[in-house]
Amino acid sequence: MHADIERVLIPREKIQHRVRELAEQITHDHMTKNGEGEVTIVPILTGAMIFACDLMRHIPMAMKIGLMTVSSYPGTATTSQGVTINYKKVGDLTGRHVILVDDILDSGSTIRAVVPMLRDMGAATVRVCVLLRKDRPEATQTPADYVGFDIPDEFVVGYGLDYDDYYRNLPDVVTLKREVYAKS
Ligand code: 5GP
Ligand code: MG
Repeated sequence: MHADIERVLIPREKIQHRVRELAEQITHDHMTKNGEGEVTIVPILTGAMIFACDLMRHIPMAMKIGLMTVSSYPGTATTSQGVTINYKKVGDLTGRHVILVDDILDSGSTIRAVVPMLRDMGAATVRVCVLLRKDRPEATQTPADYVGFDIPDEFVVGYGLDYDDYYRNLPDVVTLKREVYAKS
């Protein structure tokens, strides 16, 4: 697995530091004056799983978790193949303050499809939190309230992001050697 890495784009320490900052911002924006408030975190599986787990543990508020699966890069695809959404386990969002968490903002089609859906499900507010945002117009023009890092328009893996479902457990965000893709 490590032999496949081309270069480390964002090292783990930097990720952890930024995750704390994002959590503080989210807490500040959702906590009422008397120190209360409640949120529902909706991580988009599977990519946002690791990010969301770290993020949640730094948000000291009453919280529910709703699960949603969105697939756009099935298998060995490295360009988006259209969006398939499964929201059976998202729970009742009526009147809830929802924070949609995703790993990366790329074409923006995931966020653009999911945000109106959450509003239709009765959420009081929907805010979007992504760890990464690619340097391409479709990404920067998609509204996002919390962005961890702006990165070049390259295919990355690690910290939840996969290639053919591998590499999600790498603690850093990295690029892969060209040979890795050539194999499939
Ligand atoms: P969008 O809908 O914005 O095009 O893409 C969002 C989803 O595509 C992300 O949640 C992620 O699963 C996948 N994706 C986009 N860019 C990358 C990338 O560079 N690497 C990986 N591993 N997945 C990506
Ligand atoms: Mg994803």
